[in-house]
Amino acid sequence: MGEQFVVLVPRPNANGDLHLGHLAGPFLAADVFTRYARATGRSVLFGSGAQDTQTYIVTTAEKLGVEPRELAARSTKEIATTLDLMGIAVDGFAVSSDEYRRAVLGILEPLYSAGKLVLRPVPLPCLQDTGEYLVDAYVQGRCPVCLAENPAGLCESCGHPIAAGELIDPWSPQHPDRPLGLREVPILVFPMSEYRDQLHEHLARNEGGMRPHMVQAIREIMSRPLSDLPITHPVSWGMPAPFPEVSGQVISPRVEAVGWSIYATALSARQRGVPPAAGHEPWRPGGGSRIAYFHGFDNLYAFAIAGVALLLAHGGRYALPEWFIANELYELDNEKFSTSRGHVVWGRDLVAEVPRDLIRFYLALTSPEFHRTSFSRDAMTTVTESLLVGPWNRTAAKVRPWAGHTLPVSQRSQAAAERIAARFAASYELPYFSLHRSAHTLATQLDRLDRWSVCTDDAGDFCHEVETVLRCAAPILIDLADQAAMATTVAPDPGVTEIIPRRLPQFGREQG
Ligand SMILES: [Zn+2]
Repeated sequence: MGEQFVVLVPRPNANGDLHLGHLAGPFLAADVFTRYARATGRSVLFGSGAQDTQTYIVTTAEKLGVEPRELAARSTKEIATTLDLMGIAVDGFAVSSDEYRRAVLGILEPLYSAGKLVLRPVPLPCLQDTGEYLVDAYVQGRCPVCLAENPAGLCESCGHPIAAGELIDPWSPQHPDRPLGLREVPILVFPMSEYRDQLHEHLARNEGGMRPHMVQAIREIMSRPLSDLPITHPVSWGMPAPFPEVSGQVISPRVEAVGWSIYATALSARQRGVPPAAGHEPWRPGGGSRIAYFHGFDNLYAFAIAGVALLLAHGGRYALPEWFIANELYELDNEKFSTSRGHVVWGRDLVAEVPRDLIRFYLALTSPEFHRTSFSRDAMTTVTESLLVGPWNRTAAKVRPWAGHTLPVSQRSQAAAERIAARFAASYELPYFSLHRSAHTLATQLDRLDRWSVCTDDAGDFCHEVETVLRCAAPILIDLADQAAMATTVAPDPGVTEIIPRRLPQFGREQG
């Protein structure tokens, strides 16, 4: 059996459909990696889903004047449909269910029974008149580390966790005019500092595969005292906590991350027909799988720090994730996507107008891997035409006259094909996976094919290299590759010296 991977994309909140900001980073990256790994003989389980336990569902529902459960159910369906429309082929799409809840409690209950979760009084902001506690989306203020304005929980700018009680100048987005107080309330917490040494060792061992901003943030967080991780919250929206000391509280949605990861893996295995017991194997030590998260920068604490610490607390019972491929924010016309301000491009709207291969290519090319990048509809039109559609259509037209012929391929062309494949592999392989470089490599190769003046003597070489580029681009250009595969009359073998070129599809024209 070849290498096995578990690929996970943290679930978006079920408080709306997916816009391009969601799709451009982790989802497309994970899908492209999964397709590439499978095409090169490795097996992959690809899990994601939608999360309905975050308080963002309540605050969004209130703005829209709908019931939170109704919003969550509708959004969950929309998210699954949009992923499908974009060709992002998640195996296990995990949503709340009894099995999901069992997986989450399967991580927390053993720690509770072993006395590793402790009851501590924690100061929380509350509405002064009703005493209602405010956490996560219910309270906003400035980050105590970097001063950026954020809801409580995690800072999008610096990546640090933000305890609700530590927000500077907190206010309630739902009730901006009502005064807030600060009151202590006993909640269950997980003392992160007890796992500092093991956590540091694991993260230091794997930081060579992380992007620089992630390494910087992790080192900064680990250089300071590690604050307790809240396990429960004294609010009503979320998964009820089954622990008597905190009766009436819910599980903090952020600590569902580990149970969700294990559940999404098992669900993915089931969808791919892997026997049930084997579905949990990847999370057993020595299970043989390599676990990779593709996530937004703001998720680094929940998955790479708190998530790993919770796994470590089980004392070697679980395998630890190895890769954390973090993305920065994707913006629209150099401003943050904002649903409330209507500054947004929905994935399903764009895919209704533009072939999804073009969207996938442009999102890959502009992927926010190292810093914020921006989507522009005009730039997408210009760039996809000049780098992809034009060069490809002219290339396909040069192949067409040779359809049905048997042509020789030179040694020199076989060597060139190996170089092309190696260049793509360099951008597709973990940990230095890069959507941007893969799209750039594709553009470079298409430009070369576009400039090639084909004659009878080198038509075989040309067709062979076109085919190589198309095969290497298949994880990104999923429809073009499918159409080309359907047009194939003889399965190509890169080792043979003769090929039968196929009739290649073109963008934006009748296929034939
Ligand atoms: Zn911050």
